[in-house]
Amino acid sequence: MITVIFSLDYEIHGNGEGDPLELMVAPTDRLISQLNKFGAKLSIFAEAAEIAKFKTYKDDTGLDRFHYDKIVQQLHSAYGAGHEVELHIHPSYDHAESRQRGWMQDWSEYDLAALSAQRTRDMIAGSKHFLEQLMAAAHPGYRASVFRACNLSVMPSGNIADALIACGMRADSSVFKYGQSHGLVNFDYTDAESETLPWPADQKNFCHRDATSPLTEFPIYAEHRWITAFLSLNRLFRLYQSYRHQLAAPAHKTNGDRLSGQSIAAKLKQLLLQKHAWKADFNQASARQLIAALERAHGKYGNHETPVPFVLIGHPKLFNSHNQRQLEHLLHFIQRHPDKYRFGGYGDFLKNG
Ligand SMILES: [Zn+2]
Repeated sequence: MITVIFSLDYEIHGNGEGDPLELMVAPTDRLISQLNKFGAKLSIFAEAAEIAKFKTYKDDTGLDRFHYDKIVQQLHSAYGAGHEVELHIHPSYDHAESRQRGWMQDWSEYDLAALSAQRTRDMIAGSKHFLEQLMAAAHPGYRASVFRACNLSVMPSGNIADALIACGMRADSSVFKYGQSHGLVNFDYTDAESETLPWPADQKNFCHRDATSPLTEFPIYAEHRWITAFLSLNRLFRLYQSYRHQLAAPAHKTNGDRLSGQSIAAKLKQLLLQKHAWKADFNQASARQLIAALERAHGKYGNHETPVPFVLIGHPKLFNSHNQRQLEHLLHFIQRHPDKYRFGGYGDFLKNG
C-alpha cells in the first residue's frame, strides 16, 4: 500500500514579492476544497518566519496588509478539518524589512544549514513557538512535528538536527534523492538512503541512516531522470514566475552573474547529458507524469509489509486552473485504486512512538 502525502510549502515568492492573499490563502482554499472531495489530506508547511513578519507589520501599523488574520483563519480551519500544519522556515525573513515591492531579506541568512549552532537553535525554536502560539488560539494541544528547510537545504545537518531534537520535533521532510544545489544553498543528496522509504536520520547527515536517531527523514519522492521527463505546461509557468520574481541575492551566490557563451554551453551540456532529480511536484508535473511515478513506486514497494509514504511537494503560488485539472486526474486515479493507494499525512507514520 502506498500512502500519498500532499505537502505544500505555504509562502509568497522566494524574493519577498507578492500578496499573501493571492499567493497563499486563495489558492490553498481552492486546493483544500479539491482535496476534500476525494478525502485527501494536505500537509501545510507554514513558513513561520515570514508569517511572523506579517504579524509584526500588522501589530506595528494597525494595517493587515499581509492578511495575517486570513492566514491564521486558514491554518486553524484546515487543521480542524483534519489537514496537517507543519513547520517551514526561511531564516532570511528574520531580519527582513518591508518595502513597497515586498520584503527585503537578509540573504546572508538564506541557508539555514549554514547558520551557527546558536542561530539555528534560535530560528527553529522561535519559529516553532510562534507557529504553536498561532495555532493554540483554536487548537490548544497543537504541536509541530515535521520540519522542512528553506530551499530544502539541510546539509550539513548537525546544527539543524540538534535544534530539532532540542525542541521536540520528530521528523524532517527536506531531502530528495539525487537532489543537488550549488550557490545560495549547497547540498548533494545523491546518496540519500531511499527515494521514498522513511529512515531514522543520521544527525550529522540526514541522507544517511542511524538506527538510534530520534528523527525520521521522510524524503520528497524523487527519481533520476533525463531532462525530457521534466516537460510540462506548468513547469514553464514556474520558470516564467521564477524569472519575474528573481531573488535579489548576491549574484556570485545565486550563480546569476552574466553568463559567458562558454558557460552557457557548459550548462546546456550538463542539462542535456546528465540526469537530474525529478521531484513529485504536484504543481509542476503533469497528471500523466505523476501517475507513472506512482505506478513505479507501487511496482517497487506495493508489497512492503507496512504502508509506504509517497511525499509530493507543491506551492500554492503555482496552483492555477490548468494545474487544478491535472490534479483532478491524479486524484481520480488514486481514488480508483484503493487496493494500491490511499491518502494520508505524516501523522499516519508518527502516531506510535
Ligand atoms: Zn519555502
